Amino acid sequence: MTASIHPADRDVPVSAGLFKRASAVIPGGVNSPVRAFGSVGGTPRFIREARGCRLTDVDDNTYVDLVCSWGPMILGHSHPEVVAAVQEAATHGLSFGAPTVGEVDLAEEIVRRIDAVEQVRLVNSGTEATMSAVRLARGFTGRSKIIKFAGCYHGHVDALLAEAGSGLATFGLPTSPGVTGAQASDTIVVPYNDLAAVGRAFAENPGEIACVITEAAAGNMGTVPPLPGFNQGLKDVCAANGALLIMDEVMTGFRASSTGWHGIDGVAGDLTTFGKVMSGGLPAAAFGGRADVMAHLAPLGPVYQAGTLSGNPVAVAAGLATLRAADDAVYTALERNSQRLSSILGAALTAAGVEHQMQNAGTMVGVFFSPTPVTNYDEARASQTWRYRPFFHTLLEHGVYAPPSAFETWFVSAALDDDAFETISTAATAAARAAAAAKEGDQ
Ligand SMILES: *Cc1c(COP(=O)(O)O)cnc(C)c1O
Repeated sequence: MTASIHPADRDVPVSAGLFKRASAVIPGGVNSPVRAFGSVGGTPRFIREARGCRLTDVDDNTYVDLVCSWGPMILGHSHPEVVAAVQEAATHGLSFGAPTVGEVDLAEEIVRRIDAVEQVRLVNSGTEATMSAVRLARGFTGRSKIIKFAGCYHGHVDALLAEAGSGLATFGLPTSPGVTGAQASDTIVVPYNDLAAVGRAFAENPGEIACVITEAAAGNMGTVPPLPGFNQGLKDVCAANGALLIMDEVMTGFRASSTGWHGIDGVAGDLTTFGKVMSGGLPAAAFGGRADVMAHLAPLGPVYQAGTLSGNPVAVAAGLATLRAADDAVYTALERNSQRLSSILGAALTAAGVEHQMQNAGTMVGVFFSPTPVTNYDEARASQTWRYRPFFHTLLEHGVYAPPSAFETWFVSAALDDDAFETISTAATAAARAAAAAKEGDQ
């Protein structure tokens, strides 16, 4: 196929002009790689504003949003209570570098929701949360090595950029230049959902493993929930070997359920990382867990960790307002909407004769063009990802903004309404036909 695969680009002259300007001064024109549409082609949409479940781009096109800022916007965009909380906080000053009551309120809200988290420290991004949790695990255990899973993404921490999914999967980089051999050599990468491989890694490195870090349910190689017993098996092998289990709930936390994936399979990490939903859409994240471990952090203990803007009052206000508004009704709506999305996509693909797997993790939705269920990164990469480009662009043309990569989770908000689902249904029918017509090797 030719450039005609992106007919919707005809309708985005302002985005195209901005992308050109952006590309002159920002590498690749974007501040986070997947936004550049690299794996699907075409022009990234520059967004002018967003309300509820809809995005409007600078060319005045409106899309039903199934990305939700990659997770945070569970209430929908511009939620009145969140916007009011941000405005109110901003009138009192933007940052003090001194403690505020909002930080205590947000920490209490997280500790209240999650039994296993006795203390929590606020940071500015999920990357910072996992980086700090790994440092703390090493400081606490006095050990160097860590185990991670192929296809799990934990932010762009050097030591964790070994076989990470998501943007790296999209761009086909097995690891990143700039990460030194020393940083990577303390990281042992094993296949996701493979407890035997974890057991072997412990056996081959006796007394050396500080921690295992895992996505509570993987969402960065597409959506790949843990097999029954996998997370519990990790907990047991860590406990038996004096290592800590770090549950990365940056994506799943307060989204997969009201607590996160923890609320679904009941397995808690010694440390847990949070971001996305608890930020309300501003830069905020957190890591927390057992009080005896957290006590090793400065200023109580020797493990250093800090941040000029950590616990920023405006970001904290957005996160707290989001969590407070996210009541049972919101989670019921998220559940309903994720199931509705999943069944619309599944039915359209079945009708068009496209082999696929709908793989949900709580309220996270995933689709693979694969004849069999996907349980790890190799299987995700073996799926027919070349069908995704026409699928994505046909959805976009019909007013549905899906993730611009085959290796991403789809995110619903509670704000999706019947009109939005009608748009999704019409779009999905056309997109499934486009996916069916795709040929391997099409550009
Ligand atoms: C998004 C994500 C991160 C990184 O968070 P940033 O805020 O982008 O740094 C870490 N872990 C998981 C599981 C994520 O989905």
